[in-house]
Amino acid sequence: MTRKTKSKSNPTRLTVNRAVKGMSKAVGKSLPSVSQIARARRDPFRILVSTVLSLRTKDEVTMEASKRLFVKADTPEALSKLPVRVIEKAIYPAGFYKTKARSLKEISKRLVRDYDSRVPDTIDELLTFKGVGRKTANLVITLGYGKDGICVDTHVHRASNRMGLVKTTKPDETEFALMDVLPRKYWIGYNELLVRFGQMVCKPISPLCSQCPLEKHCPKIDVGKRR
Ligand code: SF4
Repeated sequence: MTRKTKSKSNPTRLTVNRAVKGMSKAVGKSLPSVSQIARARRDPFRILVSTVLSLRTKDEVTMEASKRLFVKADTPEALSKLPVRVIEKAIYPAGFYKTKARSLKEISKRLVRDYDSRVPDTIDELLTFKGVGRKTANLVITLGYGKDGICVDTHVHRASNRMGLVKTTKPDETEFALMDVLPRKYWIGYNELLVRFGQMVCKPISPLCSQCPLEKHCPKIDVGKRR
C-alpha cells in the first residue's frame, strides 16, 4: 500500500490576496505623487519626468517640483530648450537636483532627436536612456501605457520581504520573484499600494506593526525594532 506523502507547506502564512486586502485597508485611497500625476493626465512623458524626480526624494517634494517644472515645460521639445539652470531652480530641493536637471534635458533632447518626441513603450528601450533605471522604466510602461509590469522600489522590496512574499536581497531580484507569486491583476497597482503602505505603516525603521491589519499573519522577517 502506498502512503500519501504530505505536500510541503508554504513557509509564509500570509497569502498574496490577504496581504493586498490588508494593505489596501491600511492606505485607503491615498496615492503616491507619480500616480496622482498619472491619474490627472496619462502622459508617458510627464510620468517619466516625475519618476526621475521622485528618486531619493520625498513624495511631497516630488509633487511640488513636478508642478513647478510642468508649468515651464511639459513636452520633450519644451524641456529640451530650457537652460539647465532653469530646470535646477524649478526642481529644487529634489534629491540630486543638479544631476537630474542635466539628465532630464538630455532625455528630452534624445526623445526629440531620435523618437519624434514619443517616449518609448518598452523597458529595454527606456533603459538605454541615461538616468532611467528599471523602476522608472516600469512606471512609464505601467502607468503611461497600461502594460503589465511590476515596479519595485525600496518600499516594495522591503515590505514584500518582511511579509515573506519573496525572499530576495536586491530590488531587481524582487521584481522577477514577484512575477512568480503575484497574480497579473495586481501587477500594475502593486507599486502604488506598497509605496503608500511603506510610507504610512511598514516604515523602514520601526514599522507600526501594532497598527497593521496584517499583524496577526505577517512573519515580520528581519524586522527588529517595531512599534
Ligand atoms: S512587518 Fe509589521 S508593519 Fe510590516 S507588514 Fe508586517 S506586521 Fe505590517
